[in-house]
Amino acid sequence: MIDETVRAKYKVVIGLEVHAQMLTASKAYSSDANRYGDAPNTLVSPITLGHPGTLPVMNEKTIEYAIRLGLACSCHISEHQHFARKNYFYPDLPKGYQITQDKTPICTGGQIIIRDEHGNEKPVRLTRIHMEEDAGKSIHDIDVYDTLVDLNRAGVPLLEIVTEPDIESSQEAYNYVTEVRKLVRYLDICDGNMEEGSLRCDANISVMLKDATVYGTKVEVKNMNSIRNVQRAIEFEISRQIETLENGGTLSQETRAFDALKGITVSLRTKEAANDYRYFPEPDLPPLHIHQAAIDKLQASMPPLPRALFEKYTQTLNLSEYDAYNLTDSKAIALYFEQVILHTAQYKAAANWIMGEVKSYLNEQGIEIEAFPIDALRLAGLINLIHEGKVSNTIAAQRIFPVMLTSTESALAIAESLDLIQTTDNTAVEAAIKLVLDSNPAEVARYKNGEKQLIGFFMGQFMKASGGKVDPKTANQALRNALEQ
Ligand code: ADP
Ligand code: MG
Repeated sequence: MIDETVRAKYKVVIGLEVHAQMLTASKAYSSDANRYGDAPNTLVSPITLGHPGTLPVMNEKTIEYAIRLGLACSCHISEHQHFARKNYFYPDLPKGYQITQDKTPICTGGQIIIRDEHGNEKPVRLTRIHMEEDAGKSIHDIDVYDTLVDLNRAGVPLLEIVTEPDIESSQEAYNYVTEVRKLVRYLDICDGNMEEGSLRCDANISVMLKDATVYGTKVEVKNMNSIRNVQRAIEFEISRQIETLENGGTLSQETRAFDALKGITVSLRTKEAANDYRYFPEPDLPPLHIHQAAIDKLQASMPPLPRALFEKYTQTLNLSEYDAYNLTDSKAIALYFEQVILHTAQYKAAANWIMGEVKSYLNEQGIEIEAFPIDALRLAGLINLIHEGKVSNTIAAQRIFPVMLTSTESALAIAESLDLIQTTDNTAVEAAIKLVLDSNPAEVARYKNGEKQLIGFFMGQFMKASGGKVDPKTANQALRNALEQ
């Protein structure tokens, strides 16, 4: 490991290329199903296999998804574009070329706003977003002697999102990929599952002395199957590169793979051996023209996005950034919260309930919010009941919430049938106080002698005597008043 003072001499430069498999029903240029986990080589028509004489047909959904992502990132959407062939030989690429967009990506410019190391907002500029198709999968670790090829993934539509080299640390890279995953999930264009490879990230990394004016030699790292591993791979690379330079060595422009078990990167190929892809315009697909009207229509149907919701929660609802971040982390949770606040103005309480009781129930049961048995209206009812002083938070959490999980009744109906509505009746409160004071004369004397902490003891006795049905704040005040007399 390099020490901090050496490391502090260097600036880290990172650009990320994220591939997102689109959540379409069929593949990019054929009607083969786009699904993960089927038996190998069952989702393969002659088009996917690249048989001579077959022709690709554009899947319109992929264009729509690309535009949606572009709009969410404030990109420029290109009006005229065409597809290109990227030629290379590989066993999992039956056509011998990949259809992609080379000179005319569908989206250019734009940005994704992330948090830097200090929690401040930072824009990461996007170079481009383009559409392309996935290759099949070569599997090296099932058969002892042979590499197996599964072509189910061949032709699955991808969006490639390329950043400018704006990312300055492994933490920022982690935050960026997290943000991209959140975004594609909110937009319903990709499931964001890195373990299954539906979201993949290649990291371009270089280091340079802080006062240098040109970028250092970049290394591209592939094969990270989680966001955490993207961060680990980058950390390793930064150390490796600085160490090499400090020892008087030089870096070569190369592609490396991350070995998650060992936590290191290993060289795959150097740039000298780089492919010449012989890009040329794809002759089998017509050029694409996108009309402004189509873009406007998609703009009008954009779902709520995490950033806009975050702003609404912090600025309009006055929630903390912490609360807003947690609520917007998952789209489903955010939408549930949106529903709850249609029925209650107790925003902070609603946030607390969802991030507290509701989330722990979901975690315990291993279910998602979509399967949560209490709908937004009923949860809002419970929150309102507390706000109106009809039940305490404790009674709501311990007695009413558990019943609501297995019934369809409202919080109020449950509270009434279990006789849990708090008394506002003063005579009942006073009777309970009298009972507590009369049965504990020694403690009363000690309290009057200055042992004020006994209030806790009296509260306990009082809650028992009143069956927990008095608002604790009212009870506490009434008890103090009685004891001070
Ligand atoms: P290539 O031609 O090798 O694919 P590109 O110019 O297309 O390189 O850039 C690929 C990615 O690498 C982009 O995300 C870009 O921001 C990033 N990148 C470019 N130069 C550097 C550098 N010196 N250090 C780190 N990342 C870089
Ligand atoms: Mg590139």
